[in-house]
Amino acid sequence: MIETKTTWKDSGYDCNHCGGQILERTDRETGQPAQVCYQCQMCGCQWELSGDILRVGHMTSCHRAVKTQETLPIIPARLRLIFIIVGLVLLALIYFGGLVAVRYLIPIVITVIVFRALYLLGKERMWW
Ligand SMILES: [Zn+2]
Ligand SMILES: [Zn+2]
Repeated sequence: MIETKTTWKDSGYDCNHCGGQILERTDRETGQPAQVCYQCQMCGCQWELSGDILRVGHMTSCHRAVKTQETLPIIPARLRLIFIIVGLVLLALIYFGGLVAVRYLIPIVITVIVFRALYLLGKERMWW
């Protein structure tokens, strides 16, 4: 018997078509590897994790975005930028402050992660 189970998770990103929340969708089918993609809650667009468009949503802004070859939401570019910045900051810290500086960085990173989780939780519950 084949069962399909779909789970949704907040991806933490906003759609650049409609400003809606982008969720991470995981489809599990018995005997099949899980399929993961991003889906916008508002316009219904779907993207592969790599950022390629899977399905175009129902809003005019979606079709316009696809037509102008802007098929990617800002996800990959933004992520790459963050990785580059984090990498550069880490390199600079190691270069100037040695590994000791990295030890001070860990509490900062943990604080940022906690605040981000709180922020996402608050957004989900519409506190702000
Ligand atoms: Zn959207
Ligand atoms: Zn869209």
